[in-house]
Amino acid sequence: MTKVLFVVSECAPLVKTGGLADVAGALPLALGAFDCDVRILLPGYRAVMAQLSKTRVLETYDDLFGGPAKLRHCVHAGLTLYVIDAPHLYDREGGIYGDVTGQDWPDNPARFAALSYVGATIADKGAGDWTPDILHGHDWQAGLTPEYLHVAACDVPFVFTVHNIAFHGNTTADQLNALRLAPTRFNADHFEFWGQISALKAGLMGAAKITTVSLTYAEELLTPEFGIGMDGVLRYRKAELSGIVNGIDAATWNPATDPNIKPYKSAAGKAANKKMLQKTFGLDPSDGPLCVLVSRLTEQKGIDLLVDALPELLSHGGQLALLGSGDPKLEVSLLEFAAHNENVAVKIGYDENLSHQMMAGGDVILVPSRFEPCGLTQLYGLRYGTVPLVALTGGLADTVINASPAALSNNAATGIQFFPVNAQALTNAFRRLCALYQQPKVWKILQRNGMKQAVGWDMSAAEYHAIYRGLTKASS
Ligand code: ADP
Repeated sequence: MTKVLFVVSECAPLVKTGGLADVAGALPLALGAFDCDVRILLPGYRAVMAQLSKTRVLETYDDLFGGPAKLRHCVHAGLTLYVIDAPHLYDREGGIYGDVTGQDWPDNPARFAALSYVGATIADKGAGDWTPDILHGHDWQAGLTPEYLHVAACDVPFVFTVHNIAFHGNTTADQLNALRLAPTRFNADHFEFWGQISALKAGLMGAAKITTVSLTYAEELLTPEFGIGMDGVLRYRKAELSGIVNGIDAATWNPATDPNIKPYKSAAGKAANKKMLQKTFGLDPSDGPLCVLVSRLTEQKGIDLLVDALPELLSHGGQLALLGSGDPKLEVSLLEFAAHNENVAVKIGYDENLSHQMMAGGDVILVPSRFEPCGLTQLYGLRYGTVPLVALTGGLADTVINASPAALSNNAATGIQFFPVNAQALTNAFRRLCALYQQPKVWKILQRNGMKQAVGWDMSAAEYHAIYRGLTKASS
């Protein structure tokens, strides 16, 4: 039995802002099949504490980065959790990373240093009668963990997974003492990054193994365009870097049993869901291709390209139903576009149930991202017979097979890819999509190929297990 502690800032179904939460909620269960006991260390945000009952206090801290705290233990939705109950850090109105206006919390460095610190403490001293063999941290919020392992002189190996390199978790050097970091390690070999403290760099430099969430993104990260300042660090650590594609929670995302939709086993069952979705979004019951998009609305996601490219889709009788929230400027431009186009409907907000209905009712799932470490919605689309139209980047390149003539004739094609990521290429992709949609036989083959693709966690969990085994063998 390999004992692993995830150190992570969000975890579905308890608290989620993006794909990281899905991974943290599903991968531990998948690793159970590989004789791994994976437990999860999570901040006790207000929304998390409200959902937990019957917790047991394992540890108390008089001063955890500015106030008293407790480490609580419980099992929730099949997940074994350690939750940091620290009201001064986590009990507040607003989002988990920022206030209601979207501004990052100014004390984020301390809030997530505390997460990393407690992770290292559990590795060093255990939690109750349980001590992990491996710490597995995710993104910058867990990046300082190896620094606290160093301070505690604890040699439990640290695995670091990069879900998105764009977030560095930097803070100013005058925080060294407040964050309880060793001043002697404020240098380029550890966590110093151009004069600042970088939690992400600390994780990358201190990890025994680094993974990211697709093979293509692992290669892209080594380039200045995608490495976003960390490409040099990653080239330095290249020997320890690998890509393991994300899976999806195949029980939650199963069109045959999904309680949010009219369940179906073959793509023929999508028609009834399409009608309902058109109604939900106030769209006409048209027969054209209904594209759906579920996303954070940010520059990364290529949302700004839509306004220029959508006229092509609409000119062929297509429709768009979009659900998302984020950048206020993008929200306004999408809402304005929808106000002038009856075949475009936009809902601003976050709605898990509706996102399932969109996968079931859509003909096409759009993911026009400029960069995409893995991406999950194209995987949901594959499972639901909703053909992905995606940018050729990161995990989107790895998980979708473009409908080229050769791939179509070999029954391999599952979707449509476009490159470069600009409005003209997306326009051309909409044209190709509409041409394919007008050939029902070809369209059915695309759907069937996609629905057959393995998108669960089994294969990827085996790869994580192999990494853990390599490390526990090395340290025993
Ligand atoms: P990222 O982690 O970069 O946001 P991913 O595609 O990896 O992108 O994961 C996003 C996850 O969040 C998916 O599960 C997606 O369905 C979900 N999601 C994003 N925006 C919304 C929304 N507005 N409503 C419901 N679910 C959303």
